[in-house]
Amino acid sequence: MTHVINPATEQVVATVPATSAADTDAAIERARRASPAWRAVAPGDRARLLRRFADAVDADVDNLAALEVANSGHTIGNARWEAGNVRDVLHYYAAAPERLFGRQIPVPGGVNLTFAEPLGVVGVIVPWNFPMPIAGWGFAPALAAGNTVVLKPAELTPMTAIRLGELAREAGIPADVFQVLPGKGSVVGRRFVANPLVRKVVFTGSTEVGRQVMAGCAARVKRVTLELGGKNANIVFADADLAAAAASAPYAVFDNAGQDCCARSRILVQRSVFDRFLELLEPAVHGVVVGDPGDEKTEMGPLISASHLASVTSYVDSDTDVAIRGSAPAGPGFWFPPTVVLPRTPTDRTVVEEVFGPVVTVQSFDDEADALRLANDTEYGLSGSIWTRDVGRAMRVARGVEAGNLSVNSHSSVRYWTPFGGVKQSGLGRELGPDALDAFTDTKNVFIATEGA
Ligand code: NAD
Repeated sequence: MTHVINPATEQVVATVPATSAADTDAAIERARRASPAWRAVAPGDRARLLRRFADAVDADVDNLAALEVANSGHTIGNARWEAGNVRDVLHYYAAAPERLFGRQIPVPGGVNLTFAEPLGVVGVIVPWNFPMPIAGWGFAPALAAGNTVVLKPAELTPMTAIRLGELAREAGIPADVFQVLPGKGSVVGRRFVANPLVRKVVFTGSTEVGRQVMAGCAARVKRVTLELGGKNANIVFADADLAAAAASAPYAVFDNAGQDCCARSRILVQRSVFDRFLELLEPAVHGVVVGDPGDEKTEMGPLISASHLASVTSYVDSDTDVAIRGSAPAGPGFWFPPTVVLPRTPTDRTVVEEVFGPVVTVQSFDDEADALRLANDTEYGLSGSIWTRDVGRAMRVARGVEAGNLSVNSHSSVRYWTPFGGVKQSGLGRELGPDALDAFTDTKNVFIATEGA
């Protein structure tokens, strides 16, 4: 049993059973047995079931959002968006079963066709920071492509995943086609990697665990998608709309209390406007409303757990040069204020490591080449932002930053219509967008002789 704690109040909100290794294997076996019938469902019918699932999520948005506020401390505004994102991703991939085209390739002596075949059982392993969207990015395209799915939410945040499993069943998706298995990574997650009946693992989480998952999958030549950590740069050039860049910078890193793989946790500012940018940043940081996540006006809630609070706190000590510190409630809950740090060296822990909390560094650079050198001086490569009015520079720098997702004069990273994922140690493969189905199918080639045997 796992006690689920509300991170804003430290109260126990639920007790959830932890799935054992034997029960995980039994669920995987059921998913395997359900596979032939699910892949045989006519494309239009599979599409209809996914649309019904999307409608069930839509009707439950307020309930799902309330669960996420209580379980994860997400602000109510964010939590509603997250539930809506699951609905939208289901609708988007509901269009896929009827468009899962193969190709007819010209060959001598016959007809050559390709088919996008489902893989079988797909295991989706989800972290605690965005429990709903990250689950949906895995299960929606996987189901659409004709796979059955076993999904493991993070130990700390199982509530919305369990509810999504119920909604799928209410919508008519057979119970063994989509199963939610709460439990430990070292038990349930490990079985997804080790059990040969699971043909693909979709893992989102830390780079450290991702490496272990990849090694385990390699031993079985199991397909794997990895979405891992980030240490993303927000690059502000002197010619940018500085007011807009400074006003938006806090939200690009403090949203979800900084517990976001795409958080722009390193602000790089061209030296000539460095002081002016900090002046503009100060009121913006103080303007971030931190408090009760259930309050509509709140913009930032607590951290997820006591141990995560201890980890984030360890980055800011008496030696740290804190330039700006926002507010946070006192009393129960795992609170940490929005914090802007001026690093003493480029190798400070706050610059190099993924804090995964509301801590951002600000560094200066001289020119485009210097900005790229700093932005790319990291083992990660997930996202980043570029603020400039010069279109040519925007394109040059976007092409030069080693990251999977860049935005210009914006901090947008995740849009379900477009591919999402990292380079370097931020991951492997892409989710979302029109090509996600490729990650959940294998291409089969069939040649039919049309000329005498
Ligand atoms: P984590 O790696 O500790 O856990 C992620 C999931 O893996 C959890 O469900 C956990 O139970 C499971 N797990 C743990 N050990 C396992 C094992 N040995 N085998 C299989 N599964 C195992 O990560 P976290 O602390 O939950 O999440 C935070 C991390 O996730 C951060 O590094 C963040 O950057 C990353 N993240 C990345 C993305 C992205 O899309 N790139 C998105 C969100 C979060």
